[in-house]
Amino acid sequence: MLGSTQRRPFPALFRGLIGIFLAASVLLPAAPHAADPVRFCVDPDWPPYEVIARNGTHEGIAADLLTLAANRAGVTLQLFPTKDWDDSIAASQRGDCQMLSFLNQTPKRDEWLIFTEPLFIDPNVIITREEHPFIADLAAETGKTIALPRGTSIEERVRRDFPGLAIVTTGSEAEAFALVSNRKADLTIRSLTVAVYTIKKEGWFNLKVSGQIPGYQNELRVGVRKDRPDLRDQLNQGIATLTPQERQSITNQHVSINVQTAIDYRLLINVVIGFSVLLLSNLIWAIKLRRVNKQLLRASQTDRLTGLYNRAALDELLSKEIERSERYGRTLSVVLIDLDQFKRVNDERGHLVGDRVLIAFADVLRATLRNYDTAGRWGGEEFLILCPETNAEQARVVAERICAATRVHPFETGWRQTVSVGFAELRPRDSIDTLLRRADEALYQAKNSGRDRVCGSIPSPAAVIL
Ligand code: GH3
Ligand code: MG
Ligand code: MG
Repeated sequence: MLGSTQRRPFPALFRGLIGIFLAASVLLPAAPHAADPVRFCVDPDWPPYEVIARNGTHEGIAADLLTLAANRAGVTLQLFPTKDWDDSIAASQRGDCQMLSFLNQTPKRDEWLIFTEPLFIDPNVIITREEHPFIADLAAETGKTIALPRGTSIEERVRRDFPGLAIVTTGSEAEAFALVSNRKADLTIRSLTVAVYTIKKEGWFNLKVSGQIPGYQNELRVGVRKDRPDLRDQLNQGIATLTPQERQSITNQHVSINVQTAIDYRLLINVVIGFSVLLLSNLIWAIKLRRVNKQLLRASQTDRLTGLYNRAALDELLSKEIERSERYGRTLSVVLIDLDQFKRVNDERGHLVGDRVLIAFADVLRATLRNYDTAGRWGGEEFLILCPETNAEQARVVAERICAATRVHPFETGWRQTVSVGFAELRPRDSIDTLLRRADEALYQAKNSGRDRVCGSIPSPAAVIL
C-alpha cells in the first residue's frame, strides 16, 4: 500500500469532494468485438482500487471504471499481468503494455506517458480516533502528532503546509493507522477510499474520517504510452461518458463509507434523542406530580368519612367567600347543622352504624343543596353549608329543606333522625368568627327550643326567630 502511494504523488489542484464510496469488480481482458486488444498493466495489489485476483482477472474500482470507459470508447483491453507495481512501470516503459490503468500524473511519468482525464478523484482525508471532533482546518491542530508514511508526497506537503504539526514517520500505511489507533499519534492523512477500505479490512474500528484538506487529492488517470495519443483520445471519449452516478455506483458496489461532515449527525441525533427522553420523562414526571399534588390537595381538603370538605377547607373557602362578598357587595350566608341526639346512635347501634349515618346524612346534604352551595363537615356530627349569593331568608329556606329531607330519610337506625340548624347572613365588618358565632348561637337556640328546627336572624326588616 505504501509503495503505491509513494509511486503516485498527489497533484496540487484542489477539487472538493466529500463522499466517496468503494467497490470491486472484474475487468475482462478484452471485449470480443474489438480488434487489436490494448495491453494494459495495473497495480496487482492496491485494493480497493485494483488488484489482480487469484483467477487472474483485474478487479476493483479502477477495473470497473476502465472497463466501462473502454467499452464505450470501443477499445478492447487485454491485461498484461505483473507481479507488482514496479514490474508494471517497467513493462510500461519497455512497451510490453501500452497503458497503465490508474495513476496520478507526475513530471517523471510525463517522460514516457500521456494521461487521460481523471477516471476517479479521491480526496486525501484526515484520520483520527473515534472521539476526535471534526477537523475543519488542519492548521488549527498545532501541536498534534501526525503519523505519515515516510517519503510520501503527503509527508512533504504536510511539512511544508502545516509546520505546527509534529510528524512521526512510519514504514507503512498500516503502521500509521496503528499509531493513531494506539494513541501514539493523533492523526494521519490518507486517500479516503484506501483509508476507509483499510480501516474496515484491518479492523481499525476506533478510527474515523474527521476531515479533509483542500487541495490534497488524488486525480487518478489512465497513463498511455506517448506513441499512442490516438488511444488516449479514444479513452477520453469513453471517460467523458462516465456520469457521477455511475462512478458513485461503482464505488458503492465495493465498500460504502461515511465521512463525518462539520455537523456530527450521529452525535446530533444522540443529543436530540437524549433531550427528547429527558423532556418526555420530565413531562411524564410533571404530569404524575400534578396528579399526585391534586390527590394530595383533595385529600387535605376532604373529610375522609363523608367525602365532604373538611373543616380546614371550609375555613379557607369561607374566608374567600367573605372577601368576595365584601368586595362586590354580594350576600353570603352560612348554615350550621348538628345531628340531634346522635350520641344515641352510637350508644345503641354502635360506632360503625354511627359512621354510616353520618355518611348517609352527607348524601342527604348533597341531594338537597343547590349547585352553588358548598357543604362540609365542621366536626363530629356538625356540618356547615356555605351559601354564596344567599341572604338570611334564602338561607332559612335552604336550612328548612335540609331539616325536612333529614326528617324523612330512612337511616339504618330505623328511627327518625332529625337535625337542628342555625343560619346567619354575613353582615358588614363580619369576620369568620363573628359570622360563625351567630350561626352557632342560632343552632344553640334551635337545640334549646326543642331540636329538629331552624333558627337564625333575618336582619331586615326585623330580626326573626324561627
Ligand atoms: P345533641 O342533640 O345535643 O346534639 O345531642 P348529641 O348526642 O348529638 O350530642 P353530643 O355532643 O352529646 O354527642 C355527639 C356524639 O357524636 C358524640 C360523638 O361520639 C359522636 N360522634 C362525633 N363524631 C363521630 C364520628 O365520626 N363517628 C361516630 N360514629 N360518632 C361520632
Ligand atoms: Mg354536636
Ligand atoms: Mg348533636
